[in-house]
Amino acid sequence: MTINHHLDDSTIVSFAAGALPAAFAIVTSAHVAVCPSCREKVAQAETIGGALLDDIEPVALSQCATNNLLEQLGAGDKTVERPDEPGAGTSAAASQDKVLPPIVSLLIGTPISQIKWQRAGRGISTHQIALGDKAASKLFLMKIAAGRAVPEHGHTGHEVTMVLSGAYNDKCGRFACGDVADLDPDVEHQPVVEASEDCICLVAVERPTRFKGLLPRIFQPLVGI
Ligand SMILES: [Zn+2]
Repeated sequence: MTINHHLDDSTIVSFAAGALPAAFAIVTSAHVAVCPSCREKVAQAETIGGALLDDIEPVALSQCATNNLLEQLGAGDKTVERPDEPGAGTSAAASQDKVLPPIVSLLIGTPISQIKWQRAGRGISTHQIALGDKAASKLFLMKIAAGRAVPEHGHTGHEVTMVLSGAYNDKCGRFACGDVADLDPDVEHQPVVEASEDCICLVAVERPTRFKGLLPRIFQPLVGI
């Protein structure tokens, strides 16, 4: 996996301090798991944080944050149905299961082949991942059909997207498996999925995303973001 787009330094520092909202902590954790570069930065941030808190024994803050998060979400005792268990689907569906990061599999509790997608416009479907009523952030999977474009949109808050399969292009470049788009509120973009395969992304958003144009605005409640 070659990763070309990384997390913003401010996201990494907040993650290391255990200060990210739940959805962002999960996307960050999924990216850090596959990206040695960002993993090194998290370790550096933890070391600096530990040195600043010199009265407190340094601990792996981000790991604690992830464990606490899973406990709060009640996912600690969930098990994920494996592809070789009865009823888990075909071998093609089983190979798709490698798409989901382990932490997301724990939260969803089913293989990706059994996810109930909600249609959210032509060629776009989503699946919201429950984080509890008190969560200030939203986490969802988005599947965009091969060759399709997501309506041009800006953001009213922080948004982090990680590509899990397929690839898309926008004005920031090409985003493929493992890449993250860590976007400020002032960035407007229009991702276009490559024609070879569908693109599945894991998305964390802070507040509702605002789509431009009448038709996308009609679709926005369906997308649920
Ligand atoms: Zn990275």
